[in-house]
Amino acid sequence: MMAHEDCIFCKIIDGDIPSAKVYEDEKVYAFLDISQVTKGHTLVIPKEHTKNIYETSPETARELFSRIPVIANAIRDVYQPLGINLLNNNEAAAEQSVFHLHVHLIPRYGDGDGYYPNWTTHTEDYSSEDLQSVAKAISEQIKQ
Ligand code: AMP
Ligand code: ZN
Repeated sequence: MMAHEDCIFCKIIDGDIPSAKVYEDEKVYAFLDISQVTKGHTLVIPKEHTKNIYETSPETARELFSRIPVIANAIRDVYQPLGINLLNNNEAAAEQSVFHLHVHLIPRYGDGDGYYPNWTTHTEDYSSEDLQSVAKAISEQIKQ
């Protein structure tokens, strides 16, 4: 597997940097995030270096995501969280700090557990015509 130079996650896959491994197979590696938001906070990554979701092939996405339910259920079986959030940040403006695709699995244990997703909605700014026009613009760009 071609490791990307200076990529910390490629070095983790290669064993050049230690990690707390949760899962490994031919295509996918999972390990604990060194900064645990909550207990069991896990990162799932493809072994093939890909910068982020924009550069990810459907095949790599398929392989990566197919392991996530299995890992999520293992976390649930061990720690019985009340729920789990999946989070994937792409580009610095979206809080991506390591540029090797990864999905965060963040088990949730209730109020004050350390994870505070918060966003502001703008429902009133969009009429149903606006929604149709946004959907049309995106759908016309979809290339398969
Ligand atoms: P993101 O901000 O979505 O790019 O997330 C990158 C994550 O990688 C952060 O939550 C870091 O805590 C985590 N991280 C960085 N270096 C390591 C490492 N050596 N081992 C485990 N997790 C790491
Ligand atoms: Zn990498």
